[in-house]
Amino acid sequence: MRMYDIIEKKKHAKKLSTEEIQFFVNGYAQGEIPDYQVSALLMAICLNGMDEEETLTLTLSMAKSGEMLDLSAINGIKVDKHSTGGVGDKTSMIVTPMVASLGIPVAKMSGRGLGHTGGTIDKLESFTGFNTSLSEETFINNVNTIKIAIAGQTKNLAPADKKLYLLRDVTATVDNVSLIAGSIMSKKIAAGSDKIVLDVKTGSGAFMRDEKDAINLAETMVKIGNGYGRETVAVVTDMNQPLGRNVGNILEVKEAIEALKGNGPADLMEVSYTLASQMVVLAEIAENEAEARKMLEETISSGKALAKFKEFVSAQGGDASLVDEVERFEEASIIEDVVAERSGYINKIETEEIGIASLILGGGRENKDSVIDLSVGYVIDKKLGDYVEKGEKIATVYANDEAKKEQSVRRYLDALTIEDEKAEVPAIIKTVIRK
Ligand code: URA
Repeated sequence: MRMYDIIEKKKHAKKLSTEEIQFFVNGYAQGEIPDYQVSALLMAICLNGMDEEETLTLTLSMAKSGEMLDLSAINGIKVDKHSTGGVGDKTSMIVTPMVASLGIPVAKMSGRGLGHTGGTIDKLESFTGFNTSLSEETFINNVNTIKIAIAGQTKNLAPADKKLYLLRDVTATVDNVSLIAGSIMSKKIAAGSDKIVLDVKTGSGAFMRDEKDAINLAETMVKIGNGYGRETVAVVTDMNQPLGRNVGNILEVKEAIEALKGNGPADLMEVSYTLASQMVVLAEIAENEAEARKMLEETISSGKALAKFKEFVSAQGGDASLVDEVERFEEASIIEDVVAERSGYINKIETEEIGIASLILGGGRENKDSVIDLSVGYVIDKKLGDYVEKGEKIATVYANDEAKKEQSVRRYLDALTIEDEKAEVPAIIKTVIRK
């Protein structure tokens, strides 16, 4: 079998066989096929797609490209949560301690930033000393003792996805249903949790901009999960504006801490409660979402979720005292107001551009070897539906480089559509997909 022929076949929109998919997945994982050939195939997949059978084969080949975690040593129903990626999406840091504080074991595998979106692992590394490369033993032990562990993808867990993820990030080959479904579900299957809740983003800051495509992605992943015996629920949520107010790693950690203290913005809390409720119902701790939500609200008002978050940060080697002294997090050297260039209602936000604006500041990766600047980003004051006066402050930019700041702020301002008549603000929760 030759990689060249596989690329050629997909270039002509032909269906790949199981053997061909396994050949490229395993060959790439083992370093036998070079980046440039895999990049070409990924682009052909983006342009010509894969059918359901190819997607399932891709997912299972990636899941089986490394070890499959056995979490049977953890008592109780283990639930995992994963987002397809957005801007300002810090829900994992809110949802997982809430759920764990109810005694539900959360064994979560998280990723780094991808394209214009952020990743939980990068964000958690804002805590000095935080270790995201846990051994299997520590991972299992932490979930058993404190009910929560969040680890990055180990070298051996779905290694094909690990390599493909990095390659897709820098070759503009992220936004394809089969590649996203394969990437997420291979990790979730290999990571061993019993049940999975997915947050499928849609809108201008999501990989699936169109709601129909997002629902298709959600249905594809729910089918794969349930087909493999892992009960899966997907919530399709809005990403036509950044979630919450902060964008950028440390800034998002600070907002998540505020949310755990009961001061989270409405949109961020709505998505967090909706996802967490699904997890609580799947874990069979509540009979329905309304009951689950009440329990979850109590974890915030009682301070239990915040205490669990501190316990979690500390258990993974992080400096948990930062939670109470957020002013000790590293701060950017340039902090400036961003002001509106005209008066009117903010009717549209090109959210991907806001993600890119943060990336330009150094908050994301430009290539596979980039080191990210955790302190940069934006705190947003004005969002969709808000009225602004020309010259009024709409956000604060956090930067460490004057030229990058100039370029980034220009991009931020160009991402906004400000008009005289107010447009409808999209609903935050679109739909929930179950088997
Ligand atoms: N998150 C993932 O883990 N993979 C993708 O492809 C997109 C989002």
